[in-house]
Amino acid sequence: AQSSLNRSEALSMIGQLAAGVAHEIRNPLTSLKGFTKLIELKANIESKHYFEIMNDEFNRIELILNEMLGVAKPHNDRVIKTEVSAIIEYAIALLQTQAVMKSIEIVTEFIDNPVIECDDNQIKQVFINVVKNAIEAMDQGGQITVRAVQPNEDGIQVEVIDQGEGMTPAQLAKLTEPFYSTKEKGTGLGLMMCLNIMEHHKGFLKFESELGKGTRVILGLPVRQ
Ligand code: ADP
Ligand code: MG
Repeated sequence: AQSSLNRSEALSMIGQLAAGVAHEIRNPLTSLKGFTKLIELKANIESKHYFEIMNDEFNRIELILNEMLGVAKPHNDRVIKTEVSAIIEYAIALLQTQAVMKSIEIVTEFIDNPVIECDDNQIKQVFINVVKNAIEAMDQGGQITVRAVQPNEDGIQVEVIDQGEGMTPAQLAKLTEPFYSTKEKGTGLGLMMCLNIMEHHKGFLKFESELGKGTRVILGLPVRQ
């Protein structure tokens, strides 16, 4: 007998496995964090530095677990009707401080503001990840443009355009692979999660990039699923 999985079934299984593992690690991690804090209170001043490192490492594990839980989220969805602008503005508001600190201005252009049916929490996660990547790619300051272009029979399309470091074709090809990251503190799980969510919504996620010039991420969603 033969059995095979298609791509979306495989993604879904990986997502469930990731979420299961992440969930199981979370509880013991919480008690480790708690007991470490207790010991820290009684520890001498020379060991302070080690506790700082331990705390940073605990936070790092937590970040990875949260992103892994995000990977599996598409399986318990609720569908609501919402304006595209509401989702985009939510994501931008969350990241505004980070942008301002790097002298980045985020500009929105809504040629149209259609209502879409989606799990808004999941689509918010996608925009947060994509705009965050844009901010992280820009060390010289500048502008990020988020524009919703005219919807057509295929659905809506939103572009996130940055003036950041850009990517080579080889980097572009690896983008959505799990754990692919060029950042010191990156997890490399963000875009894999985004792609998973967009496919689950029967939408798409495309990238165009030029090294040293910037990147354009194109997100597409059907108006009705
Ligand atoms: P992470 O942000 O944790 O590294 P992601 O999955 O979000 O993981 O992104 C994977 C990699 O793709 C990043 O490390 C970076 O190299 C590249 N990347 C993503 N978005 C951009 C962008 N807007 N500009 C340049 N590189 C990008
Ligand atoms: Mg990211």
